[in-house]
Amino acid sequence: MTHPFLDLPPLSAARFASIEDRVARLLGTRQDVVIMQGEALLPLEGAIRGTAGPGTTALNVITGPYGQTFGDWLRDCGAKVIDLAVPFHTAVTADQVRAALAEHPEIDFVSLVHAEAATGNTNPVAEIGEAVRAHGALFYLDAVASVGAEPVLPDTWGVDLCVIGAQKAMGGPAGVSAVSVSERAWARMAANPGAPRRSYLSLLDWKQRWVDGGRKALLHAPAQLEMLALEACVERIETAGLDTVMARHRSAALATRAGAVALGGGLEPYVYEERDAAPVATTLRTTSGVVASELVARALAADPTLPLAAGGGALAKEMIRVNHYGADATVEAVRASLVALGAALAEQGPAVDPEAARRAVENAWH
Ligand SMILES: *Cc1c(COP(=O)(O)O)cnc(C)c1O
Repeated sequence: MTHPFLDLPPLSAARFASIEDRVARLLGTRQDVVIMQGEALLPLEGAIRGTAGPGTTALNVITGPYGQTFGDWLRDCGAKVIDLAVPFHTAVTADQVRAALAEHPEIDFVSLVHAEAATGNTNPVAEIGEAVRAHGALFYLDAVASVGAEPVLPDTWGVDLCVIGAQKAMGGPAGVSAVSVSERAWARMAANPGAPRRSYLSLLDWKQRWVDGGRKALLHAPAQLEMLALEACVERIETAGLDTVMARHRSAALATRAGAVALGGGLEPYVYEERDAAPVATTLRTTSGVVASELVARALAADPTLPLAAGGGALAKEMIRVNHYGADATVEAVRASLVALGAALAEQGPAVDPEAARRAVENAWH
């Protein structure tokens, strides 16, 4: 009996390399792209441990929970860390980054999350990249939640380490991920005695045994099914057109913001300014005293397929996440999410206008 995902022939090195090349094309990069065999946290951690050490002074920009994690890894590597934290309802500005660089000329590493699905904000990477480049620091970017939803251009922006995952706007698997690595970043790793070597976290292993060897032999058996899923999802984006996929996410974000305001009942966009709001996912704030996690639980009880979640940790009280990414970047998913939130709100007391929300969603989408 044949089975659709068992008993497959092994994934060849050539096929693996061709998937890396397709990911590189998606990012418009000429840098080396390494696909790592794990969730995005693997290259995110590997890239920090590879490049940071006791001699490093890092500017760590915190616009959500991932920035916090990066600061912890950097400190663990022995780096001196200067945190630049902004409230989660906004984005960091290039001027804030420039000011921090001017105040601490010794900064030689900058870590930034492009878009945060967990908080719904997105940061102006192009402008920030200019400031980082002018300063000469190594630029590390988490683009997991932005790739596929908005432009991610490591070469144009001067990003030295750009990490992506396929599980958000790319609509792909979560079990493999990729990082583009500049020559400068490779040099920093090679010179770092603390960089992981002969380790699952090691990017240098992939450089020495895969990239430098002409990508002829894989380091170990790859996560075959995840690699095939990554290939399929990149192919699907190529067929639809990256611009079309990104436009769908942008529309979903605009429609969710407009629909929430029209719905009423105390729902507001969590991120104040539209320009700071991520196309990948929209966060909403409950202002009527209704607990966000309870509201989401009611809405999901009515329809468990809706892309809704409450904020993590302390944010669960007041933050709703509408995860309109991948297959859920549709007008239907946005409309259904708002209508369900409206019904759940009405049960709790606040007056809502679901018809106005529907109209606002339609208008904003087109
Ligand atoms: C989603 C996401 C990741 C990947 O983490 P998971 O929670 O495991 O999906 C990494 N960074 C950012 C900014 C993300 O939004």
